[in-house]
Amino acid sequence: MDCIFCKIVNGEIPSSKVYEDEKVYAFNDINPQSDRHILVIPKEHICCANEIDETNSSLVSHIFEVIPKIAAQEGIDSYRIINNCGEKAGQSVMHLHFHVLSGSNLSEKLV
Ligand code: 5GP
Ligand code: ZN
Repeated sequence: MDCIFCKIVNGEIPSSKVYEDEKVYAFNDINPQSDRHILVIPKEHICCANEIDETNSSLVSHIFEVIPKIAAQEGIDSYRIINNCGEKAGQSVMHLHFHVLSGSNLSEKLV
């Protein structure tokens, strides 16, 4: 499949790894929008939040269990989790991912 994030998971495209387990991969965003900008993705290809259902939602809960571990590992105590679903919401890579943003430059606005 021609998916950038699948290629990152299988090592075809290099990335700056932050965390990995059997289900999840996390890496630094190539174009950070804040002081720290980490992407957390399931290794399995799921296109977007619209594709989450009872067969794969355990992956999402696992991601939300992993995010505090990543934050602790990286010394991040405050952060924002963002998921863009669909092109009009700003999703540019069609492989489910959660942005974990932290730092002093986070806007107070959500949009
Ligand atoms: P989206 O706009 O889909 O919510 O977020 C996609 C994110 O992936 C963007 O923040 C973009 O900078 C990041 N990104 C795109 N291609 C690559 C890549 O090859 N490597 C890394 N580390 N990040 C990428
Ligand atoms: Zn993929």
